[in-house]
Amino acid sequence: MTSPLDQDLRRKIAARLHYYDDLGIRLFYKDRRGKLVDQTPVPGKAPPKTALAPAFPQASRAAPVAFADRPPAPSLFDTVNKISNDTLLKVREDLGDCRRCKLHKARKNIVFADGNPKAELVFVGEGPGADEDAQGLPFVGRAGKLLTQMIQAMGLRREDVYICNVVKCRPPENRLPEKDEIAECSPFLLRQLDVISPKVIVCLGACAAQTLLETNRGISQFRGQWLDFRGSKLMATYHPAYLLRNPSAKAEVWKDLQKVMAVLGLEVRKGKPA
Ligand code: URA
Repeated sequence: MTSPLDQDLRRKIAARLHYYDDLGIRLFYKDRRGKLVDQTPVPGKAPPKTALAPAFPQASRAAPVAFADRPPAPSLFDTVNKISNDTLLKVREDLGDCRRCKLHKARKNIVFADGNPKAELVFVGEGPGADEDAQGLPFVGRAGKLLTQMIQAMGLRREDVYICNVVKCRPPENRLPEKDEIAECSPFLLRQLDVISPKVIVCLGACAAQTLLETNRGISQFRGQWLDFRGSKLMATYHPAYLLRNPSAKAEVWKDLQKVMAVLGLEVRKGKPA
């Protein structure tokens, strides 16, 4: 019988899994091939052939973002034509009292979006949490307060930007949205983005970035790089909830936001935000 993990170890493992999750790493494999051999390189000696592969593919940070895992073009999003004369009101009406996926069962409110429908800057998060579900508004809990501070640090107000999520109903226990839920909900997100057609889309966290870019790559491989999404410039950065757990990553996010500010013609201030 396996011994139960003590509380402290459980907490540490949970925190580490959250950390990997924020980086977009969701698959873990148990290597059953035997003991790990010592891989310390010995000068003049080839590495042992029996060496086990690293637990995760070690992509070079400098490698260009090739998105080789994208479905062969044209992808789903590429083939969805912009609906002429679409409006956010029509998108909301078409969403209706949505029951397309199982997330509707436990939700209190659909969280459609918040902010300026003519925004040049759109933030896309993952999905509503408890506070968002209760209020029907995105990013109003702890992570939302941090997002609001980030927006203000950029010299904007929350009302200047548009804020939405990949899924519009709260996943139970704040778990990650599942594939079928994203598949049902993302066409509405796509229509929202097409209607607004912002200059810049900032994806907050791996879920938003992987959904819009149709990739399984970890966010750290392309975070902070400019990518294209249907004519808008897209930047992926870490989710504010990740920053609450890892405040040291704020500096990297601030660098990403400064790039966004430059594109939007906002005054880029050096150093940390006030
Ligand atoms: N996290 C998200 O991804 N979206 C929200 O609306 C709130 C928290």
